[in-house]
Amino acid sequence: MDTPALTAYMEAHVDQMLARLKELVEHESPSTDKLHLDRLAEHLARRWESLGAVVSIIDNPVRGNHLCISLPSVVSGPSVAPILLLGHFDTVWPIGTLARRPFTVEATRAMGPGVCDMKGGLVIAEFALQAISNLALPLSRPITLMVNSDEEIGSTTSRGLIEAEAALAKAVLVLEPATPSGALKTARKGVGGYTVTVTGRASHAGVAPEEGVSAIEELAHQVLRLHQMTDLESGTTVNVGLFEGGTRPNVVAAEAQARVDVRVWTRQEAERVDAAIRGLQPLNAATQLSVTGGFERFPMERNAGTRQLFTVARRVGQDLGLVVQEGSSGGGSDGNFTAAMGVPTLDGLGAVGDGSHADHEFVQVASLPQRAALLAALMCEL
Ligand SMILES: [Zn+2]
Repeated sequence: MDTPALTAYMEAHVDQMLARLKELVEHESPSTDKLHLDRLAEHLARRWESLGAVVSIIDNPVRGNHLCISLPSVVSGPSVAPILLLGHFDTVWPIGTLARRPFTVEATRAMGPGVCDMKGGLVIAEFALQAISNLALPLSRPITLMVNSDEEIGSTTSRGLIEAEAALAKAVLVLEPATPSGALKTARKGVGGYTVTVTGRASHAGVAPEEGVSAIEELAHQVLRLHQMTDLESGTTVNVGLFEGGTRPNVVAAEAQARVDVRVWTRQEAERVDAAIRGLQPLNAATQLSVTGGFERFPMERNAGTRQLFTVARRVGQDLGLVVQEGSSGGGSDGNFTAAMGVPTLDGLGAVGDGSHADHEFVQVASLPQRAALLAALMCEL
């Protein structure tokens, strides 16, 4: 591998990478807006085709269309398992965010909706593959790139596609942003979501309070039980982030509902907390309690395959003069699905920045060429 040539190539393309990032950010793409998502899918497909990839746009009647992109390797055949890259082109930002917060570059940072999560990662993948092609670097495995349109809302319509590709893959590389300090992610928490509903009995709070059964009172007890399930030491958190119920101050509340977010580091913890939440019983036998929901993404646990992948990435980084560190995240990604299948998964190969899902979202401009070089070299090495 000619690492100086790869580094030089990327350094010479920083302006083009920024121009490309601007272009992607200016295609606003909220997860629930099929029209805009389909337009961006089409735009990305044309770009990948121009890089020599075979692109299929996967029609999605419910959400935005997804993309499955493949690039052949010098060695091919049924025995050569591909490398799967995962990315998403939806963002959490509604249409109009761009007008309020346009794409800008100030000193060392590029800003705008979705720069970090994860249009920066998509640009990195494009330039990594472009460099491989232009510098004639040898890929020993075919590359499959799945780019979905619904990652920010749980990947409900793309999960099956991702898992089917992952089942064929040697390894999965995820283009989500690195940690703010630039570390790759070898572990992510699993994410569960539950709704706890309590039904009581309405009554006039002044005239016949004894005839009422307060759903709010019962749910308040349940919230305390739920929060007691948090164990910061093991990294398990149970958070009631939404609590609603009742109709008026002078009515004993007949209905109340809590929405619960759960985060855990291990599958075992996921199963334990899941059973505890499903096993909640009302304190007041005159109320009814029901629980719906479950784990959307099981944890991405640091297993032997992932450790091995990270070791290769660190060595490849050293060759490029980059310090590659290992980190983790409390948030989930599509890497959680593939890691839970036992496929070695390395995440955080996208841009280095901070403020994902927040107004101060940015990427470090210098990370774009560095990460593109790292990704290109890693793909050639696997
Ligand atoms: Zn993301």
